[in-house]
Amino acid sequence: MKHYDVAILGAGPAGLAAARVATGTVALIDDNPQPGGQIWRGAPQIPVPANVDFLPQTKVFDAQPGFTLHTVPHGPIRAAKLIVATGARELFLPFPGWTEPNVYGAGGLQALVKSGKPINGQRVLIAGSGPLLLAVAATLKKAGAIITGIAEQAPLGRIVPFLLRYPAKLPQAIALRATLLGVPYWTTTWVTRFANGTATLNNGRTLTINHLATGFGLVPNTEIAQLLGCRLDDGFVVVDSRGQTTVPGVYCAGEPTGIGGLDKALAEGAGQPYNGAFVRDLAQAFALNPALYDIAEPATLICRCEAVTKAECEPYREWRDAKLQTRCGMGACQGRLCGPITQRLFGWLPSSVRPPLVPVPARYLSTAQTPPAPESGRSENAPPAHR
Ligand SMILES: Cc1cc2nc3c(=O)[nH]c(=O)nc-3n(C[C@H](O)[C@H](O)[C@H](O)COP(=O)(O)OP(=O)(O)OC[C@H]3O[C@@H](n4cnc5c(N)ncnc54)[C@H](O)[C@@H]3O)c2cc1C
Repeated sequence: MKHYDVAILGAGPAGLAAARVATGTVALIDDNPQPGGQIWRGAPQIPVPANVDFLPQTKVFDAQPGFTLHTVPHGPIRAAKLIVATGARELFLPFPGWTEPNVYGAGGLQALVKSGKPINGQRVLIAGSGPLLLAVAATLKKAGAIITGIAEQAPLGRIVPFLLRYPAKLPQAIALRATLLGVPYWTTTWVTRFANGTATLNNGRTLTINHLATGFGLVPNTEIAQLLGCRLDDGFVVVDSRGQTTVPGVYCAGEPTGIGGLDKALAEGAGQPYNGAFVRDLAQAFALNPALYDIAEPATLICRCEAVTKAECEPYREWRDAKLQTRCGMGACQGRLCGPITQRLFGWLPSSVRPPLVPVPARYLSTAQTPPAPESGRSENAPPAHR
């Protein structure tokens, strides 16, 4: 088993910033082939400090107090200290047609294009919520896509005051918008249906497109921190001003402590505190309209891994019951997609996190023997239902 003084999980901006200040023997672990995380995906030559052992294409599927990380393909890795910088994933909300071909996660389509997917001349509608929609539009437009519009569910009356409150971010926002001259930005707008290449918006307008890219903000990847016993508050890992979690020796930086983007990830990775007001204001500016939770129809899939519809979920009051009766959340993604959806649509609280976090070959499981945590529909660490 490999031993390190420090293991950093996640080679995004937060993990890379941590790697720059970490001393001793350091492992930097990421499931991607290159360092850079989401924002610097595909960027050439992201430097990793010389004292750091970068382990690319390495999935961590379990973590035990002590600290042992169980990985594929390197097996168990031990570290005296752990820095969890696992970033975030997109939040999807179901609407009729959301599982059709050519519907992508907004950041997912961006990642594919950054990795070489051709998009030149394709008509793309970007819909959902948050600043990521603009970043995605800019990437796709640069790659030759025709952006038919950006449908943002938040009202303009919340977005403008938010921007004005943070003048330091304005040049960045203006520069991004300048690259999107001519691309309509519709606020208080969302997709209610997608079928046969046509997206219908809540104002009745229809658009003929090749691709629909959709995402309603970000969900923090807190599973590793939860396996280690770190306390969560409102769904985010609790840290002090130096990034120390409630478990001695475990630090956390970037999106798992609060969705705040690049500047926050860089500051926290370097062990510096970040302005929590920005995180709160961002969340408030792009808070989701509850009308979005009523778009799915009875036949709309909620759990796409196990093909469970809204009508099949509705009789249940808790995720545990729905899991047992319908297999909702028991597929390959282990509820990472449908968990945040069912929380919003039905008010189900997430159940406890269990290894393996991702599908792994069975031979790796024999070295990872964490006793499963008791499952409960009312986990103390669970974020509140949003409705
Ligand atoms: C799909 C997507 C696209 C985005 N695109 C942009 C953009 O273009 N511009 C922008 O400003 N912001 C973007 N963001 C927002 C982004 O979260 C922040 O800007 C910033 O990248 C956060 O840095 P981070 O280091 O906290 O996390 P990340 O950059 O997400 O880095 C976390 C890393 O940890 C790895 N990881 C997580 N769990 C495991 C595990 N169990 N095993 C191994 N590796 C693991 C992930 O693969 C990832 O590489 C995007 C977010 C998402 C989800």
